[in-house]
Amino acid sequence: MKEQLYTIPLNDAVNAGDECPFCFIERNVEQDLLDFVLGSGSSYMEADIREMTDKAGFCRQHFQKMFDYGNTLGNAWILKTHYQKIISEMKNEFSHFRPGKSSFKDKFRKAAEGGNAIGMWVKEKENSCYICSHFADTYTRYMDTFFYLWKQDEEFRKKIENGKGFCLHHFGDLCEASDSRLSNSEKDSFYHTMFPLMENNMARLAEDVAWMVEKFDYRNKDADWKNSRDAIQRGMQKLKGGYPADGPYKPK
Ligand SMILES: [Zn+2]
Ligand SMILES: [Zn+2]
Repeated sequence: MKEQLYTIPLNDAVNAGDECPFCFIERNVEQDLLDFVLGSGSSYMEADIREMTDKAGFCRQHFQKMFDYGNTLGNAWILKTHYQKIISEMKNEFSHFRPGKSSFKDKFRKAAEGGNAIGMWVKEKENSCYICSHFADTYTRYMDTFFYLWKQDEEFRKKIENGKGFCLHHFGDLCEASDSRLSNSEKDSFYHTMFPLMENNMARLAEDVAWMVEKFDYRNKDADWKNSRDAIQRGMQKLKGGYPADGPYKPK
């Protein structure tokens, strides 16, 4: 059963008490991928690995995380051959490019901006990322496992019901994934649990952030922080997901 491979790490993520178990998983998988790409195993020295990173490239977000990870030589190796690949692709794009004759009407039409071959090539490069694509594969497996356990495992279901819910970003993914993984009656009970869970936990975050504002009032300077000490970090994560719990990824 392929789901069983992910059962333990998914349960660990749910038990971790994070604002979102999928953020927790994402951080662990990203850490592993950054360790693989830039860590002490020095896979950036291996031509076959670099052939894959040259081909896929990295998105803006992951370049930032690679820079913050802080292996200058590793990043230099990766960029060195990636540049060679990009420059040769770019020259090829340039040599085939013919500026489209834009009609008078096109100049007034925003849609016409989508048809430029160079623009499309650059967008394709921006959407291609070695780390994102590896994460996407793993993430799909975790989604499968989530619904497998949701249906089979009463204890797992209880933990979700009594947990902190999900970040809005991953909750959207979860709802989309449920369409193909649950029957109509299963969907009813899924949303019956999820909607109040999300409402209650978003309200909890709103309260934590509001109390932080109050704490800045001099009359509250000796008052207890309650749960507001890290309310900004958790509050941002709850809305967008993925925020590193302890700052940038560093070599393990
Ligand atoms: Zn999340
Ligand atoms: Zn990426």
